[in-house]
Amino acid sequence: MNDHRAASADRYGDGTRAVRAGLPDPVKNEPPLPGPVFAAHFHLPGDVEGPYAYARDSNPTWTLLERAISELEAPGQDGVETVVFASGMAAISAVLLSQTRSGDTVTLPSDGYQALPLLQEQLTAYGIHVRTAPTGGDAQLSELDGARLLWIETPSNPGLDVCDVRRLVAAAHAGSTLVAVDNTLATPLGQRPLELGADFSVASGTKGLTGHGDLLIGYVTCRDPQLAAAVRRWRKIVGAIPGPMEAWLAHRSLATIQLRAQRQWANALALAEALRERADVTGLRYPGLSSDPSHKTATLQMSGFGSVLSFTLSDRAHAERFMSALRLVEDATSFGGVRSTAERRGRWGGDAVPEGFIRFSAGAEDTDDLIADVLRALDSADRHG
Ligand code: PLP
Repeated sequence: MNDHRAASADRYGDGTRAVRAGLPDPVKNEPPLPGPVFAAHFHLPGDVEGPYAYARDSNPTWTLLERAISELEAPGQDGVETVVFASGMAAISAVLLSQTRSGDTVTLPSDGYQALPLLQEQLTAYGIHVRTAPTGGDAQLSELDGARLLWIETPSNPGLDVCDVRRLVAAAHAGSTLVAVDNTLATPLGQRPLELGADFSVASGTKGLTGHGDLLIGYVTCRDPQLAAAVRRWRKIVGAIPGPMEAWLAHRSLATIQLRAQRQWANALALAEALRERADVTGLRYPGLSSDPSHKTATLQMSGFGSVLSFTLSDRAHAERFMSALRLVEDATSFGGVRSTAERRGRWGGDAVPEGFIRFSAGAEDTDDLIADVLRALDSADRHG
């Protein structure tokens, strides 16, 4: 086992693995993480051989990032492959569209990320049957019969329901249905879908994986070389490739994922506990709260519960007053970044959420500062109502 594989081994903790993930074996006078390789093509005299020929197919900067993500998604496991994409949606589309043909059936969550219905329309236009069921209560179980692919999003965005991945995988595999899990919210530090039996772990690395809100990237990780080859082929056809700079920034950011996650998850839990005491807050959801309906299932399969929580204020105006009273929390979409963000989710339309619904992503601020800011903004929103 060479040095970088040694660091990915199971015996190390997440922090050790994260700081070394994907690094090449040390070369004298070379940097530990080589810089981004900006190239459209590579020297290729004679026969077409070797790993790098044309940069829509492969790039050394992706290779290192792909290794790093594989090490985090499946520590110590050989043969796991990751394929990086230009965005989370590029990765999701690559799995759904490379694995299905006209006449196939796909089971999607009815409460997943808000671009899934757009994808559903496209799948339907290609003659693929789509069934949907909510994430909570493992309701997708009843929609599996004869399906080619089950798509799971757990915890779901923005409702934060959780389903039992092992249970769904067992039922799906009994009927030869492939299983993909969107691991965006949890990140590989919080949940490892391949270890739970899934065929694909798919995520937007735009969020908690990279955590700085400065790039878009996505990935697909899987164990079966044929599945990986199909996803790679899809990337080549569609060309939804990340730029070398984004790939390098993502890799650089991975080194701190454990530090960021620890602080952000602790902040999310502390905030959820503080909000639980408030009479003006209803519908509070955070899978890490022992009272949350998702908690029991989450503890079976998650090692951390993520940075996202949600709650509801009385109406749209109340939520808008709250949002504009925040000082340390940016009013922005997306989540998982080191700076806290929140938004009134209903402003987008498309999610089945009340007008006063807030999706909140805890950043890496000092816990006391963050909680004080949120409680002060809530008080101010109440006073001025
Ligand atoms: N999956 C989930 C759960 C998401 O929340 C998002 C984006 O918010 C995506 C996928 C899509 O990721 P991207 O914006 O990187 O395409």
